[in-house]
Amino acid sequence: MAKSEIKRPDSLTEILIAPCGMDCGLCSGYLRAKKNCPGCNGGDADKPSYCITCRIAHCEELAASGTRFCGTCGQFPCKRLKQLDKRYRGKYGMSMIENLGIIREIGLDGFIEREKTRWTCPECGRLICVHKPCCLACGYVWNKAQGDAKEGNHAG
Ligand code: SF4
Ligand code: SF4
Ligand SMILES: [Zn+2]
Repeated sequence: MAKSEIKRPDSLTEILIAPCGMDCGLCSGYLRAKKNCPGCNGGDADKPSYCITCRIAHCEELAASGTRFCGTCGQFPCKRLKQLDKRYRGKYGMSMIENLGIIREIGLDGFIEREKTRWTCPECGRLICVHKPCCLACGYVWNKAQGDAKEGNHAG
């Protein structure tokens, strides 16, 4: 992908934050050039089936809570969320549960600003993809431990 096609940190917005705490704006499915996923809160066109049928996004407790995030649910963090979080912490060095805690602590706007800083490539200033060990624009290695990350390992 050409560097000019890689999104900038300013592209991160509230709508990209999923109920589980995933920042869809960092997802390889969202960042890819063609048939890009609109994010968990977007429509189902070009969204992978495992995210369309995600049990967290369609959780009854979440619907009943009347809020957008798992962090305000009485069962937080439930087993389902802990499993997802464990996978992401181990493989991608990112924690949904930590994200939700930060949203509770400083609010969604503050979290977005924090994300913009955290996921800006120090070499080229573009947005870093959480699913890839190297910056998509310049190749800067931000996560040496993530050597075997593969396309398709999204939140769902
Ligand atoms: S593939 Fe899933 S995690 Fe990635 S942007 Fe789409 S909904 Fe979000
Ligand atoms: S924490 Fe678990 S039970 Fe609560 S809304 Fe999220 S997925 Fe549902
Ligand atoms: Zn870069």
